[in-house]
Amino acid sequence: MDTARQFAIDDSKANHEIMTNLDDVKLLRNLAYINGKWVSGAHFRPVFNPANNEIIGYFTQLAASQVSSAIDSAEHAFTAWRQLQADQRGDYLRKWQQLILAAKHDLARLMVLEQGKTLAEAVGEIEYGASFIGWFAEEARRSYGETIPSHIAHAQLFAVREPIGVAGLITPWNFPSAMITRKAAAAMAMGCSVVVKPASETPFSALALAELADRAGIPPGVFNVVTADAKTVANVFCQSDKVKALSFTGSTPIGKQLLRDAADTVKKCSMELGGNAPFIVLPDMDVQQAAQAAAEAKFQTSGQDCLAANRIFVPQNHFHEFVEHFATQVNNQVVGNGLQADCTIGPLVNHSAVEKAQSLLNDALIKGATIVAQANLPPNTQTDGCFFPPTLLVGVKPEMAVYREENFCPIAIVMPYADLEQVITMSNDTEYGLAAYVYGHDIHQIWQCLRGLAFGMVSVNSVKMTGHPIPFGGIKQSGLGREGSKHGLEEFSEIKYCCLGNLPTVSGS
Ligand code: NAP
Repeated sequence: MDTARQFAIDDSKANHEIMTNLDDVKLLRNLAYINGKWVSGAHFRPVFNPANNEIIGYFTQLAASQVSSAIDSAEHAFTAWRQLQADQRGDYLRKWQQLILAAKHDLARLMVLEQGKTLAEAVGEIEYGASFIGWFAEEARRSYGETIPSHIAHAQLFAVREPIGVAGLITPWNFPSAMITRKAAAAMAMGCSVVVKPASETPFSALALAELADRAGIPPGVFNVVTADAKTVANVFCQSDKVKALSFTGSTPIGKQLLRDAADTVKKCSMELGGNAPFIVLPDMDVQQAAQAAAEAKFQTSGQDCLAANRIFVPQNHFHEFVEHFATQVNNQVVGNGLQADCTIGPLVNHSAVEKAQSLLNDALIKGATIVAQANLPPNTQTDGCFFPPTLLVGVKPEMAVYREENFCPIAIVMPYADLEQVITMSNDTEYGLAAYVYGHDIHQIWQCLRGLAFGMVSVNSVKMTGHPIPFGGIKQSGLGREGSKHGLEEFSEIKYCCLGNLPTVSGS
């Protein structure tokens, strides 16, 4: 470990805000974690607190050669790791999970400081992320193969699942801990080693996971975290024959680019990309209850959630009543620093996100949309932090960017519909296909929605839909593959078919 460098940076004034918020200050790491060692690059990059624009610390930037060395370490570690029994790998993972849960308050505070979400959301994310580690620690024991009735005389046929090898994982800033554990736990449980590239806005959450993996005794090289320029890492991953699987969570355009780049070495790719979720209120739904659920589905993580209810569709005859109730939900939001006890919605991740939200709003207003409600921003937040007020828009038309794009901000749009056929068509009118929500009672209409909605996940009468046992993932341009559930292991394994023939007995032997 480059100790001098680590502490020179850690002791700087910039780290003061983090240090005063952590009980265990050693969770704050700013070097990359490769082969069980903390490794420095030649440069450091700042991390900002989106609630006040202050630099909370610096993290190292590796060179391409250092990213390659992480892959070499992972490949070396893979040889022994894959030989362990699934139970033995599960023991390491359970230890890691326990340490994460024991440190959840520190990890959550660290996350709020670099990402901005509320403390309650951050604690929820740490628990959610840790649950995948527990799940896959168990699930890998059940990665059964199959026996195949033979079509070849005297031969036994079977297929087994084998770990694919080194997996490159690239993750986003909106869920800086859970998007890592959801991938890494599946890969590691299956017997793969991983090299993780976290988002540059939120490296500290990833490096704290590495610190806890180290304390859990996970063998060097099995879990590596590299922090470097995104394109540099992506090039090294995509060009390396040693990286057999590439798992990405992030925006659809970057996912498409990675798919193109990974084609040269024919990697197994899993892609968790953007969403543009509809929220359909059925005619028999209690309007107040529906407005409350829709606001919850829209405003979690300040609207920066791939599952966020981007387009809320309400029957024409309930439209005005629904809008009134939703406006109350908007006005009740308490915008502020995520560490503030009464805060219900934190800042956006950075200034570009605020500018993008403003441009979506301007585009909609110019084209005829109307603001019905907008939450207040507390004094100074507009100038000091990356805040954007929760906003309710009506009069939105399909040609507006706020409707077509994954808006990833707290702008809620409510639109009327005439009948079920129309609302299903409107819901499916997007290149995305991640998640959809339906609220109502009539089982016939619910069934029509379940059958008609072109999304990988449809949740009826529940805002909460995700979790370790479910196959999380999208269709259309929302991605490829599934995370969580038994299917999560498939992304990091390959099927080997075996034909065990029967040599004729040699006479006299
Ligand atoms: P992003 O800009 O695509 O970045 C995601 C990751 O890709 C980051 O680590 C980023 O690194 C890296 N990256 C950026 N440019 C790259 C390039 N040219 N080549 C390779 N990697 C590159 O996405 P984001 O803004 O962080 O996250 C928001 C997006 O993630 C949304 O679209 C959201 O829907 C999606 N998401 C999907 C799911 C899901 O499960 N489907 C879950 C969460 C989020 P740097 O940070 O260093 O630039």
